[in-house]
Amino acid sequence: MTMQVSKGMNSSDKVALDAPIFDPSAFRLSDDQAAIIARAREIGQTVFAARAAAYDRDATFPTENYRDLHRVGLLGIAIPKKHGGLGAGYQTYALAAAEIGRYCGATALTWNMHVCSTLWTGPLADDLDMDTAMRAEHETRRAIHYKRIVEDGAIYSQPFSEGGAAAAGGVAFGTEAKPVEGGWIVNGKKIFASLSGHADYYGVLCTEVEEGAKASRRNTLYLAVPARSDGVSVVGDWDPLGMRGTVSRTLLFKDVFVPGDAALMPRGVYFQAALRWPHMFLTLSPTYMGLAQAAYDFTLRYLRGEVPGMPPVKRRMYPTKQIAVAQMQIKLEQIKAIWFQAITEARANPSKEQVLRAYAAQYSVMEGANELAALAIRTCGGQAMLKSLPLERIYRDSRCGSLMLPWTAELCLDRIGRDALYEPGETDE
Ligand SMILES: Cc1cc2nc3c(=O)[nH]c(=O)nc-3n(C[C@H](O)[C@H](O)[C@H](O)COP(=O)(O)OP(=O)(O)OC[C@H]3O[C@@H](n4cnc5c(N)ncnc54)[C@H](O)[C@@H]3O)c2cc1C
Repeated sequence: MTMQVSKGMNSSDKVALDAPIFDPSAFRLSDDQAAIIARAREIGQTVFAARAAAYDRDATFPTENYRDLHRVGLLGIAIPKKHGGLGAGYQTYALAAAEIGRYCGATALTWNMHVCSTLWTGPLADDLDMDTAMRAEHETRRAIHYKRIVEDGAIYSQPFSEGGAAAAGGVAFGTEAKPVEGGWIVNGKKIFASLSGHADYYGVLCTEVEEGAKASRRNTLYLAVPARSDGVSVVGDWDPLGMRGTVSRTLLFKDVFVPGDAALMPRGVYFQAALRWPHMFLTLSPTYMGLAQAAYDFTLRYLRGEVPGMPPVKRRMYPTKQIAVAQMQIKLEQIKAIWFQAITEARANPSKEQVLRAYAAQYSVMEGANELAALAIRTCGGQAMLKSLPLERIYRDSRCGSLMLPWTAELCLDRIGRDALYEPGETDE
């Protein structure tokens, strides 16, 4: 699998590529997997890294990066080969996304929202129960979405959050879809909707409710609402601490007609996926795995006096700095080990142990990336946290990981503690 990733580069200005976060031989990856992951790493390092500071400073969406992701086939990374995609499974996608996150957190996080629209409807949905008619309907509809992405470079997003307990899985989504002739009428509001104003389709989770009926999580629908539909608007500003390029503004849906072929999953299948394929919610973590590696990479380069644009001052001879680097390396390897195991065993109907490990992996990556970034700043010192260098952005971006529903750091702790101590249905009465 070869492809020119570094647009406009000739052999004389080729940069030395970073080693992969997960060495393909040590982690037993196939050649196909290694090639897809290398494609992500190369475009991340040679193209996205240089653009990341501007998207962050101006809180603007990485539109140019999305054109490049389309150009090198990565918009369709999880789309099956028979539909023109790269055919990557869950593990390959996660490893590729970590490599993108290493160079631009906002691109990796928004790319995750886009890719999940294909991963969840693709390899993940193939593991779920559907009768023959439902499977055929799903096959026809997903082909429409895949074609738009592969041929036109269409971008999908995933606005789920509403500011209440729905995105945490506690109650039905307040955004409602009323069935009408030929589709649905959607009304509601989504907050923190990454890619607002930039996606072509908003992959909205909403509750299908018949006139006068009660909302139920079982009736969750996953609809790709065309961004240019009448009644869709983007409101509010976006000036956050980190992940500024995600442009996660508020989306309003006012009597939006959504046609039947907009369904990304048939009725009842999203509810089934959330119960039977829980690792679907671990897909927010690869970005932060990449940020953890980035904090470590920067520290080594800085202490060795090898950061481009900085005087070649070495700081590696001080024992305190060597100890800090040792602590960082140990922490990074711990995060990598649990995360690699969790993304490798992602499947339908995982065991209780596998689910607890997935929560623990999510917690370890989301909290660990920011701990590494904080240690990197302390160790490298004052000049290293200037805005002319990427470390302070890595620090701010990594702080956002623990906030991502439904598996926030707090909710992971809640679930691990409860599920480790209680079997389903057990009480203390
Ligand atoms: C950079 C960034 C990008 C984002 N992009 C997207 C996106 O594209 N799509 C999207 O859908 N969301 C996105 N989010 C939103 C994110 O997933 C959360 O929904 C959001 O951060 C929650 O904010 P909140 O203040 O409502 O959360 P919180 O108040 O922390 O939580 C929301 C609700 O969840 C429940 N809850 C929280 N913690 C617990 C607990 N310990 N026990 C029981 N219940 C609990 C509560 O009911 C609470 O009201 C993004 C967030 C960030 C920071």
